[in-house]
Formats: sequence, structure tokens, C-alpha cells
Amino acid sequence: MSNWKDIFAHPVGLKLYVMHTGSVHMSGNIHFNKKSPEFKSMPKDKRFNPVLAYAVVHPGKGLALLDTGVHSSFCDRPFGNFGPLLGRIVKIKAERGRDAASQLKSLGFSPPDVRLVILSHLHLDHTSGLPDFKGAEVYVDADELKAAGSHAAMLEGCAKAHREGATINTFRYGPAVEPFDRVCDFFGDGSLFVVSTPGHTRGNAAVILNARGGPILLTFDAAHRKANLDLMIPPKGDYERARRSLGAIKSFVEAFPRARVVYGHDPDQLGELELAPSFYT
Ligand SMILES: [Zn+2]
Repeated sequence: MSNWKDIFAHPVGLKLYVMHTGSVHMSGNIHFNKKSPEFKSMPKDKRFNPVLAYAVVHPGKGLALLDTGVHSSFCDRPFGNFGPLLGRIVKIKAERGRDAASQLKSLGFSPPDVRLVILSHLHLDHTSGLPDFKGAEVYVDADELKAAGSHAAMLEGCAKAHREGATINTFRYGPAVEPFDRVCDFFGDGSLFVVSTPGHTRGNAAVILNARGGPILLTFDAAHRKANLDLMIPPKGDYERARRSLGAIKSFVEAFPRARVVYGHDPDQLGELELAPSFYT
């Protein structure tokens, strides 16, 4: 499979549940890279940005969780499972029953049903829910895993404690599928593709689902919100690499204008999304 058009000619009966697990309270310009010329004109007021997790049900492989969202401990204590240092900086709004484990339960799945967790990157708002899925095989980009072990990564928002006791594997990327340089056909059946989109973090990844209703691109933090793409302002992180990844996403969206795109933390998109228990097919 060397091009998306051929891939999308053979869609798979996937179900995608979008779970709004909580919100992160941050200034309005947090989603834009400081090196971009437009950064100064971005709004600075604090706002709540959604933290999403996704459940994908594959007809043969069962349930996969994509990112893990906000942990339920934020309902009981202000720093939740971020710890006092990062918890003071990153303010979370949580609601009982919204964390991924609780939402999956109301969809009829229990935590042991989650055998597979795919992480877009290792920032704490994406790994917070991971301790609820101890039995799962966890997958992440190899560069991301390597980088996240450093002290600097901890200061940038990677919480090692979330990964304690987890079995962590790394994506095996195959050749390029334009416009993405490195693509992992995760199940080997053309249903779920992890595409390498580094920049926001060292090994940030996005996901493309080859669903019957049309392709779905989950940008995760390669584009926090639609404005990143519209204005071509990369997210925080390595400016050049993030801009290159954003450019690949833009080319993909232009080539497949009917693809559904779900952004990482877009407060303006939240109201338009069909949230779980509704689902996309
Ligand atoms: Zn992030």
C-alpha cells in the first residue's frame, strides 16, 4: 500500500468513540509556537481546552484506547496524579464519570478489556489515565520514549509515574505514504495507521483511521486546534520539525477534503464533535 487513495478504497468497519475526559486551563496562546511571527497577536486569556481520549473498536482486534485523558483522581484532589510540581502549573478540570475508564465502563467495557493503548506522545495530559489500564500493551514512538526519560522532559510535562509498571512497546514504521515520511500500518490490515509527526515532542504521532464512513485523521498535538492548520502556526516544541509535520497534515487534508479531522485540544471544535456514547464509523 503506497498511497492513501488505494488504502481508502478498502475501508474497514471500525467504530470510533471520542471521549471528552476533562479540560486543561491554559492561556489562549499556549497552542501556538512562540517562534511564529503571529504568536504575539494570539489571545492570552486563560481558557479551558478539552483533553480527549479515543476508543477504537476493530472488528477483529477488539478495543484499542488512543491516549488516556484525564485521570479520575482529579475529582478528589487538585493536582490529581500530576504531582505537586506539574500539578501547580497545569490546572485540570475534571468531572466524575468522564475519565476514560469510567466512560468505557458505561460503553460496556471494563479496564481489563483494554488490551492495547496507543499513545500520541508522553505529555501528562495524554498519559494521566494510563494507570487505570495496567494489563494493556502500550505503544508509543521509540524516539518519544527515549526522550521522555530525561529530566528536561519531566520539566516539559512528561510524568514518569504514569508509565510505572506499564509494558511499553514502540511503533514499527514502514515506508513513507506521502505526505508522511514514516507510517505504521498498526494492525497490518490497512485499518489504523500511526503517522510520525514530530516537533511538538520528539516522537509525536497522529493517527489515520480507514473507516467505512470515510477516513478520519486524529491530529493529537501535531495540531492542537484547527487554527494551527488554518494559519500554519505550529504547536509548541521544535519549530521547524513541528512546521514540517503540520505541512504534511495540511497536504493530507487538502488531498482528502472529505476526511474528518479531529484536533488535539480545540475548544471551538468540541461542540461539533459526536462524543461517546455516540460514535463514528
Ligand atoms: Zn502535548
